[in-house]
Amino acid sequence: MQGLMQRRDLMISSLLDHAARHHGNAEIVSRRDDGTRARSTYAQLSRRARRLAQVLHGLGVRPGDRVATLAMNSDRHLELYYAIAGIGAVCNTINPRLAQDDIAYIASHAEIGVIFADPDFLPIVQAVAGTLTGLLRHVVTLSDEAAADCTLPGGMVLHGYETLMQGVSGAFDFPSFDENTASALCYTSGTTGRPKGVLYSHRSTVLHAMMMNFADTAALRAVDRVMPIVPMFHAQAWGLAFAAPIAGAALVLPGRHLDPVSLLDLLNRERVTVAAGVPTVWLGLLDHQRRTGARLDTLQRIMSGGSAFPRALIAEYEAQGIACSHAWGMTESSPVATYNAPKPGNAELDGEALLDRKATQGRAVFGIDVRAENDSGEAPWDGKTPGNLVFRGHWVAGGYYREPETAVGPEGWFPTGDVGVIDSEGYVLLTDRTKDLIKSGGEWISSIALENIAVGHPDIAEAAAIAVPDARWGERPLLLLVPREGCSPAPEAVRAFFRGKLPSWSIPDRVVVVDSLPHGATGKILKTELRRIYAA
Ligand code: ADP
Repeated sequence: MQGLMQRRDLMISSLLDHAARHHGNAEIVSRRDDGTRARSTYAQLSRRARRLAQVLHGLGVRPGDRVATLAMNSDRHLELYYAIAGIGAVCNTINPRLAQDDIAYIASHAEIGVIFADPDFLPIVQAVAGTLTGLLRHVVTLSDEAAADCTLPGGMVLHGYETLMQGVSGAFDFPSFDENTASALCYTSGTTGRPKGVLYSHRSTVLHAMMMNFADTAALRAVDRVMPIVPMFHAQAWGLAFAAPIAGAALVLPGRHLDPVSLLDLLNRERVTVAAGVPTVWLGLLDHQRRTGARLDTLQRIMSGGSAFPRALIAEYEAQGIACSHAWGMTESSPVATYNAPKPGNAELDGEALLDRKATQGRAVFGIDVRAENDSGEAPWDGKTPGNLVFRGHWVAGGYYREPETAVGPEGWFPTGDVGVIDSEGYVLLTDRTKDLIKSGGEWISSIALENIAVGHPDIAEAAAIAVPDARWGERPLLLLVPREGCSPAPEAVRAFFRGKLPSWSIPDRVVVVDSLPHGATGKILKTELRRIYAA
């Protein structure tokens, strides 16, 4: 017997309809390149997204077509998110920090006909346009000006965003269609091989956005002011641009100035209560606070993901009264799979043990199933038996775009490429990426554990542990570290700092002080690059 409840497709446009109707005056603040802040509301966003839908139709975009964005977090990028998905087309958010060659590959693999780009990124478009003849027809500059200075090959037309927007009436309503329709395409930055496309659907996006508002996840409320520092080209800004309208929370979009001084200024001026970003952001912000004594006046909650959130950082933010939540996932999981929120057992943990738990990547949210697998099958939840982490769920990819051989098996387990342990309460602790593991004399050493301890040293700002070949042990850990400003930690003192915190054989034999570490397009330390340099 079938239930008698209404069956309505889960549409991304419904998130915006809800926000416009019930939170029409909630603010959207977008910082422009010159530092000024453009202010609008969900009601205005809804009207402009409809206009933009007409613009897209005018440019010949049809359902299923892929439309690219090369843009930082802004109100216009938000309009694109909603308008492109709203008409049944696919928003391909391209990461402008990728190598030009990868950008050209993505645009041609996704068969992009229209690109919307921040003026800053027009040189990238210009550089790759030659490889897209016959595909790319329209380039639209996301600025107030009609069109910037940019020469394109024949057959491609350059437009100014606002000029196009003025040319349409806005009399348009978003249609409803099958919720499994593709809505967005995000290529993983894959440090090896070509980027791979993750194709989100309306259904996966709406379910993920609802999950983000659970009380034990980001828990956005109408009184919150949310700043996704994580770029909108990075796994859809972790779903916050979809979760905030559900709650009616204000959105503060930081644009391109992501240095600590600009961020702290915007966080305080716009009274931001919740912010999300990678640990590098939190590291930089804290360093700025330490040096200048600057305070975060209104920030209540931090969501951190993308790489391990060191416990030393968590401790310092929490000491300021800012709650830190560590989340784990990947582009392939929309991206949130686990979120760190307390369980009753946390009440029995004291300072250090509690911090250890907060530094774990959290527990699976409803909608996601996670397990660690090793040669004997599923690893027990004992907090010590490592395994390759796999997950499945409503917003986990079933395979990559146009790569049928990557489809997951019938049980749906997606191999994350991460290694970790799960404790008796279900908290997942990542120990490494499979490819970053350090195996010394047959024993595994967790690079994340080494890095976590290193950044707990008062003189160290950032650290990376890598495996280097060793004649006797196969591999040994090498620790690279960036000192805090004005500090010069001695390698021997750093090694001494590790003593007692880890078994002696896992302490790095060599510690190298460097000025900076290379970061990839999504802010992660480029260990492939470090291994290449230091292997010898
Ligand atoms: P994203 O960075 O958006 O989560 P990517 O697809 O770029 O997605 O990278 C996913 C990888 O990033 C994960 O497989 C994992 O190795 C790493 N990662 C993500 N979140 C965490 C975290 N909280 N702690 C440690 N590593 C993480």
